[in-house]
Order: sequence, then structure tokens, then C-alpha cells
Amino acid sequence: MSRSERNTGMRVVVIGGGISGLVLAQGLLARGVGVTLLEAGARPGGNIQTRHHAGFTTEAGPNSFLDKEPTLRALAARLGIEERIRTADPAAKRRYLYTGGRLRALPASPPALLRSDVLPWSAKLRMLREPFTAPAPDGDESLADFGRRHVGEAATRVLVDAMQTGIYAGDMEALSAAACFPQVAALEKQHRSLLVGMVRAQKARRAAPPPATGLPATTGAVASFDGGLGVLVDALAGALGPALRTGTRAVALRREGPAWRVTAEHAGQREEVEADQVVLAVPAHGAASLVRPLDAALAERLEGIVYAPIAVVHLGFAPGAVPPPDGFGFLVPAAEKRRVLGVIHVSSTFPWRTEGGRVLYTCLIGGATRPDLVALDEEALVTLAREELRLMAGVTAEPVLTEAIRWPRGIPQYNRGHLERLAAIDAALTHLPGLTLTGNAYRGVGLTDCVRDATARVDALVR
Ligand SMILES: Cc1cc2nc3c(=O)[nH]c(=O)nc-3n(C[C@H](O)[C@H](O)[C@H](O)COP(=O)(O)OP(=O)(O)OC[C@H]3O[C@@H](n4cnc5c(N)ncnc54)[C@H](O)[C@@H]3O)c2cc1C
Repeated sequence: MSRSERNTGMRVVVIGGGISGLVLAQGLLARGVGVTLLEAGARPGGNIQTRHHAGFTTEAGPNSFLDKEPTLRALAARLGIEERIRTADPAAKRRYLYTGGRLRALPASPPALLRSDVLPWSAKLRMLREPFTAPAPDGDESLADFGRRHVGEAATRVLVDAMQTGIYAGDMEALSAAACFPQVAALEKQHRSLLVGMVRAQKARRAAPPPATGLPATTGAVASFDGGLGVLVDALAGALGPALRTGTRAVALRREGPAWRVTAEHAGQREEVEADQVVLAVPAHGAASLVRPLDAALAERLEGIVYAPIAVVHLGFAPGAVPPPDGFGFLVPAAEKRRVLGVIHVSSTFPWRTEGGRVLYTCLIGGATRPDLVALDEEALVTLAREELRLMAGVTAEPVLTEAIRWPRGIPQYNRGHLERLAAIDAALTHLPGLTLTGNAYRGVGLTDCVRDATARVDALVR
């Protein structure tokens, strides 16, 4: 029993030690709650996995976070690692799109878009009609239809698809606009036109800057830590100490009066852990199997949140073997019918992740539109990534580092019906007091979304 457990008397079992579970468990512990975090894997972090090779630091899952969430900064400050946050090189503001068979600079503003060559003139003229967008139809509109209504077919196929690919690796015909981009949906609700909404919001911000929150200021930039995202995982694990139990899988969950009993399996041995509250910070399909004996309909709804498979391929080059690529990297809209979703110029964006002029590319493959590619073996994925990089970016040199990681259930898809599904899940949870769900399957797939949701759940649980 930890010291804090004696403080409040409340016992919480958190299941799943990815970023969501780690943040939640650490937050509870810091507030004097007795917490046990069960993580099935041998190490914490879930899909955050930083690896150090000679001269290269690679990330098997996420590469970075968007430094827009004060709760992440505040967490880093509490853990004593805020100084280790490193924002991307300023050159990373330049991004590219692969369209019409070649790489083109992604314009950073509407006027730059009019001057750029990423879209034909007919598409640009159609975009100028955005302020006269037709009203939203009833029901949950797909992201593709939302895009067509606002900016037309061609801009949707290029710009909207690239934007969602960089976050969801999804199929924009299936994704829900309101669930994937809630702030954009809110802007439309208020102003109908996104352009008009953005101009008004900017004016309002200038007239009255947002009130001080007392939370650390964010940069809005793409960021990581000096030793990769693993720095955050290690700091959280260190703060949790013995409250974190790795190699321990929760296999069953039941209620006994007001208390919960979690059956956990470690090294072939089973034991029961009692708790007042249980938090499921596991992927939705994992949560489904744990709640099935309690509520089959809830399990069904959770199982209905599908995941896009994704493969990550790192190609590292010796100093001088290839010129350093410009900018953050490039995205490839599905309409191009290529076999990579996007490429990150890791060594240009995060220079501290390579030593002595080495160049590191990270290629993302698969997603909802090409799930078949993720079934390829690792060697085939490396060959594919090299072929695509040669064709799209002219990289012909022999890499000195190759690494392929497959995520068969990589990124949750907030497809049409997602918000309705969440409402039904929340309603079902009211009949299971003491059970909480968090994680990337519900209200945001980015790391910062996970940190925000987990932090909010700490507050709710302590209350
Ligand atoms: C390839 C890839 C690239 C990404 N890139 C980015 C990026 O650049 N920026 C960004 O912001 N986001 C990115 N994301 C998304 C982000 O990584 C995730 O949303 C986030 O890490 C999810 O954290 P989580 O804790 O919710 O879930 P997970 O990381 O999936 O953690 C769940 C944990 O639960 C454990 N578990 C499962 N079942 C049990 C059980 N029964 N008992 C005990 N433990 C269990 C698992 O072992 C796992 O550790 C990326 C995701 C992927 C896959």
C-alpha cells in the first residue's frame, strides 16, 4: 500500500499503461489516491516507444505532439522535465504535399494558397465561394462531404484528405467531420462559413486576448523531448514507482456490492485486486472484452470503434549519403494512389534525434485506405518504403538503418456515428458506477488529447 493510499482511503485500479493510463494514474497518486496501474506489456508507454540506435533515435509510434495543450506542459513541469521539451526546427514550418506526381510546398495561408500550384485555378475559384457554403445537412456528415460543401471536390481530395491523413490515416468518406474536427464543426455551427468564422475569431482574439489560465504558455509548435517521447513515459513511470505493475494483464472485471474486483495475470499467476473505482485506459476492443460479462450491449458499442492499421518504416542514412531534406516532410492524398501516406523528415525537424549529419526519414504506410500493406513482412515494407522514397523524393542511397514496425490496430477511426456511439457508451456507464473509460478511442487521437482527457478524469474521480 502506498503512502498516498493511506491518505484518502480510495483505491483505484487503472488498466492500461499507455500515455492515457500513465497520466491518469500519476495524477491520482499525486492527489493522494491509492492507485495500481496494470500494464500488460513488459514496459509502459503503449504505442509510445522510443528506441536508441547508433547515431539515430527512432519512434516506433508517435513522433511528436502539438504543443497547444497547457495540461501537457503543466504535467511536464510537475515531473521536472519541462526544460527537456524541444520544439521542432523552425524550418519544419515548411510542409509539402505530393500531388500531380510531384512534391509541392503546402501553402500556409489562404493568400499563399491562391499563389501556389497545389490546386488548379478552377479549384481555387471554387474555394473562393466558401463564404457562401450551403447549410449543413441533418445527421452526421462525412468529412469528405463536409469538405465538398465548403471547398469543393478538388480541394477536398487534396487538402482535406491530406489533413486527415496526417492525424487519422483514415478514409475521409467514412470519417465523421464533427467527431474528427470538433472545433471546425463548432466554427461552422456559429458562422456557417469557416473562412468568415476564422477571420472573426482572429479579430476577437486581437481585441480581447484570452484570460490568463495560470497554466504554462504553449508554443503551438510541433514538439518532443530531447531524448524522444520516451522521456515523458520514463518520468511518469518513475513517479508511479511500485504503483505501476508491468507484465500484468487484466483478464476479468466484476462487481461485488459497491466494490470492483479485477482479475490480473502476471507470469502465469492470477490474483484479484479490489478497488472502489476502475479506469479502463486500454484500446476500445480491449475495454469491450473486459465489460462484456457486465453489459454485452456496451461491449458491442466499444467493439464498433474500428482501428486503421498502420506501419512505420525508418530509413537512416550515413552523413553525406543524402542531402538533408527540407521542412517537416510530406503528405500524400489517397487520390495519388501511391503506397505511402506520408513521410517525416525526422533529422530536419528534430535535429537532436540524429548525430553527426545523419539523415532519418520515417515513412507511414497503410491506414484505412490501404490496410493490405500493413500485412507485408518487415523486409517487404522496407523495400516498399525505399521504392516510394526514390520515386517521390529521389532518394536512391543505401540506408545504414532500416526498421519497420507494424500496428495492426493502429489509429482509432472516428467514423460517422462516433458521437452517437459515445453518448450511448456514456449512458451505459451510468449503470456501472465506479467504471471510467479514457484513451485515444473516444475524444481525440493525439497525445495531447489523451493527456487532456486523462487529466480531466483525474479531476472527476477525485471530486
Ligand atoms: C504509428 C502511430 C503514430 C502516431 N503518431 C502520433 C503523433 O505523431 N502525434 C500524436 O499526438 N499522436 C500520434 N499517434 C496517436 C497516439 O500515439 C496515441 O493516441 C496515444 O499514444 C494512445 O495512448 P493510449 O494510452 O490511449 O493507448 P495505448 O498507447 O494503445 O495504450 C494502451 C495500453 O493498454 C495496455 N493494455 C491493453 N489491454 C490490457 C489489459 N487487458 N491489461 C493491462 N494492460 C492492457 C496496452 O499494452 C497498452 O500499453 C500515433 C499512433 C500511432 C499508432
